[in-house]
Amino acid sequence: MDGSHKDLKIVNLYELGREELGEFVFGLGEKRYRAQQIWGWMYEQRVDRFESMSNLPQATLARLNETATLGSLELIVRQHSGDGTEKRLYRLHDGQLIESVLMPYDDDRMTACISSQAGCAMGCVFCATGQMGFGRNLTAVEIFEQAMIFARELAERGQRLSNIVFMGMGEPFHNYDSSLEAVRQLMARLKIGARHITISTVGLAPQIRRFADEGLQVKLAVSLHKTEDEQRSALMPVNKRWNIDELLDACRYYVAQTSRRITFEWAAIAGENDTDAEAQRLGQLLSGLLCHVNIIPLNPTGGYTGVPAHSARIERFCRVLRGYGVSSTVRVRRGLDIDAGCGQLITAVMQKDQVG
Ligand code: SAH
Ligand code: SF4
Repeated sequence: MDGSHKDLKIVNLYELGREELGEFVFGLGEKRYRAQQIWGWMYEQRVDRFESMSNLPQATLARLNETATLGSLELIVRQHSGDGTEKRLYRLHDGQLIESVLMPYDDDRMTACISSQAGCAMGCVFCATGQMGFGRNLTAVEIFEQAMIFARELAERGQRLSNIVFMGMGEPFHNYDSSLEAVRQLMARLKIGARHITISTVGLAPQIRRFADEGLQVKLAVSLHKTEDEQRSALMPVNKRWNIDELLDACRYYVAQTSRRITFEWAAIAGENDTDAEAQRLGQLLSGLLCHVNIIPLNPTGGYTGVPAHSARIERFCRVLRGYGVSSTVRVRRGLDIDAGCGQLITAVMQKDQVG
């Protein structure tokens, strides 16, 4: 074999649409119908290697192995929590690290929490990813692949990935086009319904408006955490760019355009945003808006001194909200024994210096 073999570009087949896969397979000297078979193995059977594509001839498999891969994420660490949560750390082709988490729920839902960026530029002080700073935007396929990998593993166990939340590392609306492209791939290729996909944003008002105009049924979650500008800016610097008024204006626009309910996320921090006064302000702010509040006790992180609010305090907080006609749910923190908060596995691994 001559040296030209080394120059062959290895193609990640997840990068290709149906037509492109057809061209690629044809370019390998194969019949076009093989592309249909490969597509089915990838997205219906969800196999993780070419060898499992059992109706392809050996010669085709050999050519695929020489020229193509199924995915580009390199698994670095896998953790299992006692509550069934599974967490992954991946290395991207250029060395950047990202995390994704799979959370099984009692009602058979299987939810993947995926990253849209390596690190995050938004700098929320309580967030492990924010403390890390920004690496880069992920491509649509790098976002999609995190879900694809869980879908493949679940398929092997006879289970299906049912829900996706963009609540891993990064701010999806700061990487708008790739995040939306990934959403479309999740819907088309993994057959996950838009209503089972949630995008969570720190509050980029212009992108919330743009998202409202997409005509998608995808759910929107907005991380609020504070009701007063000065204090919200101290926790979430993005508030200096789009303050609470501008954010809520965009949220009202979203509800008006879509008739869909917004979820507001509230990381409950003892003494910081769990008081009756804060609950009253939140009730006033959200009263009359089609919305729901998700309260998650703060997950403590190394770079922030805040501690989670007490459950009795949170219950009271919810009662006050109810008085304003605002519904709320308290979320259980998942995977506590494996530090499943976003960015925490990377921080832990880096501290142990296991990633070279
Ligand atoms: N960048 C997006 C999505 C990723 S973060 C956003 O900020 O919405 C997903 C959720 O986790 C957000 O609501 C975020 O505020 C919250 N979060 C981040 N760090 C947290 C922590 N230490 N404890 C609890 N919630 C946290
Ligand atoms: Fe980024 Fe979201 Fe973390 Fe803020 S909370 S730093 S926006 S990932």
